[in-house]
Amino acid sequence: MAERAPALVVSGFLGSGKTTLVRHLLADAQARGLRVAVVSNEFGELGIDEALLGDGDEAWVELAGGCVCCKLSEELSETLQMLWERIHPDRVVIETSGVAMPFETQLTLWREPVSAWVDDDAAVVVCSAEQLAEGRDLDGTFEYQVSSADLLLLNKCDLVSEGALAAAEAALAELSPGTPILRSVHGQVPPELLFPLDPAQLRARRRADPPAVAPHVHERFSATELAFEPGLSEDEITARLQATGAVRIKGFVLTDAGPRLVQGVGRRLELGPPPASVPPALMGRVVVIRREPGHDPHPH
Ligand SMILES: [Zn+2]
Repeated sequence: MAERAPALVVSGFLGSGKTTLVRHLLADAQARGLRVAVVSNEFGELGIDEALLGDGDEAWVELAGGCVCCKLSEELSETLQMLWERIHPDRVVIETSGVAMPFETQLTLWREPVSAWVDDDAAVVVCSAEQLAEGRDLDGTFEYQVSSADLLLLNKCDLVSEGALAAAEAALAELSPGTPILRSVHGQVPPELLFPLDPAQLRARRRADPPAVAPHVHERFSATELAFEPGLSEDEITARLQATGAVRIKGFVLTDAGPRLVQGVGRRLELGPPPASVPPALMGRVVVIRREPGHDPHPH
């Protein structure tokens, strides 16, 4: 049974494709035999196929009557804690309503009691390329959602021209400089970008299938492992990892101040205390997922 579980906050406007993304993640987890707990604040939207949830509706909670980033933050915390104690999920997905703030929702994950068991967490904001091209509803809430995202998913890429996609990416990059923008169609994005692999998983995957993660658009991502010699400073490790331009980073390093768990998503990179028992074979190994060179999504 897992000691901790990664959590993903899925935000974005109604109609952006959040629900499709959540379904995709559930199907992926089911294929891997993983148990997912879903908390949805987008009432009645998912209309979820019970078969996708390993433990039936115990793993699926809808929170209605307010927004989980503010009014229902206490309920969100209690619900997550209940799900953890009851089913010990391998992964947690929180689908917010269209008006919620992803960062405020993440705060619940960083506070007790949830912080005691939530592992890596990330906020992905799903944006509709079609809505962006039409220039609708793009002020205020949208700007705040985009600017506080760890990852941006530019969805519905098949519905607009390449020129409109480039313009949409430029607009998102201006609102949220440095945040990775992932193109998708029907929410199809490599799950490894949203739920990172640790070095042990990367090795297991290598035996099973090639490590390249292939999304349904022309971008390609690859997962590779970097080795870090013991005794480096946190600053040195941070500088080296930031230079990789990785979308996601996860692993363990032995710094000059002791062992650290390294977790990165988009612009956010954290070196924190490691779990109680890090297998010695995993120390000094960090998995980075980045765009493959030669597949520049921004050809100019
Ligand atoms: Zn709210």
